[in-house]
Amino acid sequence: MKVYSGKSINGSVAVGKIFIYSKNSAAVKEKADDSALELSRYENASAAACEQLDELYQKALADAGVEAAGIFEFHRMMLEDDDYIDSVKEFISDNGYTAEMAVKSTGKKFAAMFAEMDDEYMRARSTDAKDVSDMLVSVLSGKSSRLNINEPVILAAEELTPGGAIQLDKSKLLGFVTDIGSDNSHTAILARSLDLPAVYDVKLPESCNGKMAILDGCKGELIIDPDSETLEKAKAILQKNEERRLQLHALKDLPAVTGDGRRIKLYANIAGPEDVADVLANGGEGVGLFRTEFLYMNNDDYPTEEEQFAAYKAVAEGMKGKEVIIRTLDIGADKQLDYMKMDNEVNPALGCRAIRICLTRPEIFRTQLRAILRASAYGNVSVMFPMIASLWEVREAKAMLEKCRQELLGEGIDIGCPRVGVMIETPAAVIISDMLAEEVDFFSIGTNDLTQYTLAADRQNPNLEKFVDTHNPAVLRMIRMTEENAHARGVSVAICGELGADMTLTEEFLAMGIDGLSVAPPKLLPLKEKVRSL
Ligand code: PEP
Ligand code: MG
Repeated sequence: MKVYSGKSINGSVAVGKIFIYSKNSAAVKEKADDSALELSRYENASAAACEQLDELYQKALADAGVEAAGIFEFHRMMLEDDDYIDSVKEFISDNGYTAEMAVKSTGKKFAAMFAEMDDEYMRARSTDAKDVSDMLVSVLSGKSSRLNINEPVILAAEELTPGGAIQLDKSKLLGFVTDIGSDNSHTAILARSLDLPAVYDVKLPESCNGKMAILDGCKGELIIDPDSETLEKAKAILQKNEERRLQLHALKDLPAVTGDGRRIKLYANIAGPEDVADVLANGGEGVGLFRTEFLYMNNDDYPTEEEQFAAYKAVAEGMKGKEVIIRTLDIGADKQLDYMKMDNEVNPALGCRAIRICLTRPEIFRTQLRAILRASAYGNVSVMFPMIASLWEVREAKAMLEKCRQELLGEGIDIGCPRVGVMIETPAAVIISDMLAEEVDFFSIGTNDLTQYTLAADRQNPNLEKFVDTHNPAVLRMIRMTEENAHARGVSVAICGELGADMTLTEEFLAMGIDGLSVAPPKLLPLKEKVRSL
């Protein structure tokens, strides 16, 4: 038994044989006789490679989600990059290289350039430059770059190309081990999207090929030739995990329906496009809360309309026609942004946050609403306003939305027809929910803030844990009142705060008549199991 310690990329355990994948590094001919012929061979191969990358993009989108698919979008961008193309052509014309040699040399040059960059993410792109160039060389030489594996294995490689990985039959993949890698590498992203154990920084000798192994993605460990006791322990863990996973996974495509036939919408809460794969893998029927403030928090400055549009569009497309509720900016209180230069407030939770910022700084709101409206042409998008306490706030927000709609139509830009909703997370919104219901298509109850404001107990203060009691009848009555006012006016009502995932209350929520629950992706399947048991 030999234990190799590496670095964890993704958790869980796999037991199986090691398959060591070595890249086909057959030598390519260096010099060509006819440069014009090589240039046209290169152009044809590049076009064919772009087509292959489009196919891989679609396959990755279906199998692993939008983030994993982005790998192939990036590869295609590299093949179409002017500097990349110029470099290949120069190697052919100036050095008299064959197309294969020119592509190989360009791949090396770009990989070295990325490897020297300061930014960790950009350094990890060095592998992409090599991968996509290797793929182009395979196309030029008429060889397939596919990996062929016939039985389930733990795939080990010096470095694994995401292109190779996504083409594999997922049922044959137990996990990944690589020597070179990083937490930011595309293979890491892929492993996480496929939810497979993955470890890097493990250099395996060829002699390990075909040997039995345990891959522990949590510990970042690979055990080759485990002794029988270690193997039995790992198998027992595996079996338990697997039984539970299968039990839950079997529910993925089943409806969230109660024993007496009531259908509940089970949606997910997300922070960005990177979460979409997780939502789909867990059978999410939509996105009930897209917390867009993370786009602002991950930036040094306000995200532009284009940046926001790209993120919203990626989610709308990734969710493939399922509803995506985009909540407008909810910054302030616990979520502060330096570049916003907000005044210091004595009571920030009661201060200028969320819709209050949007209505007082309309240029910020306008940029976001335009981006949401543009993205609505690419999927089933709804828009939701947070922290509403007064009727005029909703009317003003809707007027702003309409103004942006007219602007975009005037500019000849395609837009969809998003439904409009509000979050019910202040006691004032509950009390006037009958009036609010006349203004919108749906309500989503934010129980995190609703609890804080109903009980006058700061949700951020650890000393108040005992007092922030989400089961307090005052909170539950608020939810009930919202539901009654909503349904009396034909408006749907969901819960998107943390309480929505509290399975001790699921039965009560359904009895109240709540239409949907929106929760973190890993909570979706256990919650569906609960709904189906009622
Ligand atoms: C809530 O308040 O319950 C909610 C979902 O919004 P956030 O947690 O983002 O404030
Ligand atoms: Mg809230």
